[in-house]
Amino acid sequence: MSEFYDKRKFLMKIFDIHDALTQNWNIACKKFCSDCCTDHVLMTGLEGSLILEYLKSHNQLKLLNRILTIPSNKRFHPKTTINQEAYLATNDKPVPEPEDAPIHICPFLIENQCEIYPVRPMICRSMVSSTICKQTGQAAMSSFQMSVATLFFQYIEMLDIGGCYGNYLSVLEMLTTSPETQSLQLVLTKSSLLKNQRIYQVMMPPEYQKKLIPIMEAIQNIFSEHS
Ligand code: SF4
Ligand code: SF4
Repeated sequence: MSEFYDKRKFLMKIFDIHDALTQNWNIACKKFCSDCCTDHVLMTGLEGSLILEYLKSHNQLKLLNRILTIPSNKRFHPKTTINQEAYLATNDKPVPEPEDAPIHICPFLIENQCEIYPVRPMICRSMVSSTICKQTGQAAMSSFQMSVATLFFQYIEMLDIGGCYGNYLSVLEMLTTSPETQSLQLVLTKSSLLKNQRIYQVMMPPEYQKKLIPIMEAIQNIFSEHS
């Protein structure tokens, strides 16, 4: 599993593209607003490896003890990766829904601040709202913003091909407890994690193509640097 560790700098570049893009959006999200910070977070192993590196370099590995406080059977686990979902959806096949799981406050949220903010996963970066969630009871996210998020999810999964995807706590647990020499297949059979898939079809609604294609090309340029 160690081969994806070199991909972290490409992941950071993809995050930078996303963050630059969202700076121009009219959103209500502000520092210390954290009602969206629950433990229903999904990510790739590559994103997990970036978080682990950050915690190590900031001498904060003790924070990882928090991830063990929520047992695996009470975590929110996906049934498909994003690229699997795209494959199923474009082939008119049913997309299995994840099972319900209790919602807890994210263990990385301390005093209303994210302890891993610079390296938080894409799902956290993509969570935005045009109204303050506390006032309306839910996030107001446009379908264009959701399409942007899906585009980034798809390419990050592709970047981490050979790696895994799942509940972020389970990903971190796997990265800290599985020996690096253990095969991905063995890790997957012992856990609720899924294997990352290549992009079969980019999910791009026709009405947003004009705006999404330049974003996709910027991401693809990062892939060209990588290959
Ligand atoms: S998504 Fe909602 S809760 Fe989260 S930061 Fe934005 S406004 Fe606040
Ligand atoms: S990782 Fe950070 S941004 Fe994501 S849910 Fe947890 S506290 Fe919020």
